[in-house]
Amino acid sequence: MPTAEWICTSCGATNRKLVAPGQKEVDDKCVTCHTKHRVTEDERPVRWQARPPK
Ligand SMILES: [Zn+2]
Repeated sequence: MPTAEWICTSCGATNRKLVAPGQKEVDDKCVTCHTKHRVTEDERPVRWQARPPK
């Protein structure tokens, strides 16, 4: 399973989430501050882009 790595926009912590092969988007929660994010695949395969909740 690929790993999506993303940076929390709230506290800056690095998070990792296992995603299904071919998956482009996933919801995850920061392990440190528990802020929910929508994480989407970026051009680089490992580091994904995280958007904070609205
Ligand atoms: Zn956080």
